[in-house]
Amino acid sequence: MSRESNVMKSVERKSAHIFEMIEPMEHEQVMYFNDKDTGLKGIIAVHNTVLGPSLGGCRIWNYDNESDALWDVLRLSRGMTFKSSISGINLGGGKAVIIGNPKVKRDEAFWRRFGKFVDSLNGKYITAEDVGTSTEVMSIVMQETKHVTGKPVSAGGTGDPSPFTAYGVFLGLKASVKELTGSDSLEGKRVAVQGVGHVGHSLVGQLTAAGAKVFITDINQTNLQNTAKEFNATIVGTHEIYDLDVDVYSPCALGATINSDTISTLRCSIIAGAANNQLADENLHGQMLLDKGIIYAPDFLINAGGVINCYREVHSLGEADSSLLIENIYGRTLEIFKKSKAENIPTQEAAIRIAADRIAKAKLN
Ligand code: NAD
Repeated sequence: MSRESNVMKSVERKSAHIFEMIEPMEHEQVMYFNDKDTGLKGIIAVHNTVLGPSLGGCRIWNYDNESDALWDVLRLSRGMTFKSSISGINLGGGKAVIIGNPKVKRDEAFWRRFGKFVDSLNGKYITAEDVGTSTEVMSIVMQETKHVTGKPVSAGGTGDPSPFTAYGVFLGLKASVKELTGSDSLEGKRVAVQGVGHVGHSLVGQLTAAGAKVFITDINQTNLQNTAKEFNATIVGTHEIYDLDVDVYSPCALGATINSDTISTLRCSIIAGAANNQLADENLHGQMLLDKGIIYAPDFLINAGGVINCYREVHSLGEADSSLLIENIYGRTLEIFKKSKAENIPTQEAAIRIAADRIAKAKLN
């Protein structure tokens, strides 16, 4: 058998596997891209465009293998669909992942090539910054496509979305405290923040200003020391964060930190953080949290501040309009808790039902 036919056979096997993954998750389109000259290699997933063009950040990550990259982009883009829907904005869900070391600095050609791939989707996917990318990167991408948000203020954008995300998380966390205690005061509340990067750092500032006692961890010593010093937060170990005696655990690093192992050790009453896809298995672990009596503020609901701000950029809305949409996170979080209790379902499930319902109704119109 020739080398070509061997390759074809393996490609056929892999594409069968891809459909097995995308069909149950109901993605509309998945685009693989590859550019030998710049070394750019990645995937764009368009999950759903019923409410509007799909929007989601571009992440660079050192994936162990292609399947991990595909799984990540599929889950993240689906999360974006629910996030925009529940936030009441007219965007669909999409995401891009680039396979590579996030610490390596890429040149202009690399990012322009990525911009060309985004442009080839004719607006069906709008990109933005995410882990490993930045507003500066988006200012290069915009040379090749207009389908980009999270641009620097100097380039006509609204800049880094992280402070907006952090504000939404802060509001969702306050609503969770209200659900638990009847008051949303954070005075004296003990909060453990895992990851003090763009969002976590800003969140710690808001929490300490509201009188909370904040514990932080991070694998990046610079971020850790700077945040501890600036806000007088207490540093704890990366594993210690899971079994601290706190009111709130706030995951603001990476996804899947809520799993069977961590749930058995968690001593908090509330989980409310910025990371995407916090539940390793949304059905299993959502139910486990419900059974254990831990209040979980669904990630895609409370971390929507950034995408709401990107929406402002897409539609040239005023800052007041997007602030109002972000402030709605507080009330919507309380609504989700109410629905979860009334129907005896995990909060994640309650939030997905509301988001999916809006899309289903829009589809009928
Ligand atoms: P970031 O890269 O700026 O910060 C993440 C921080 O987590 C870094 O300081 C990193 O060192 C730390 N970290 C990584 N692994 C860790 C570990 N095992 N233990 C402790 N710390 C660890 O990212 P960000 O923009 O602050 O986003 C944080 C999370 O929120 C991500 O999951 C992101 O997808 C999600 N999110 C961000 C936005 C946004 O507007 N930036 C919007 C929605 C969701």
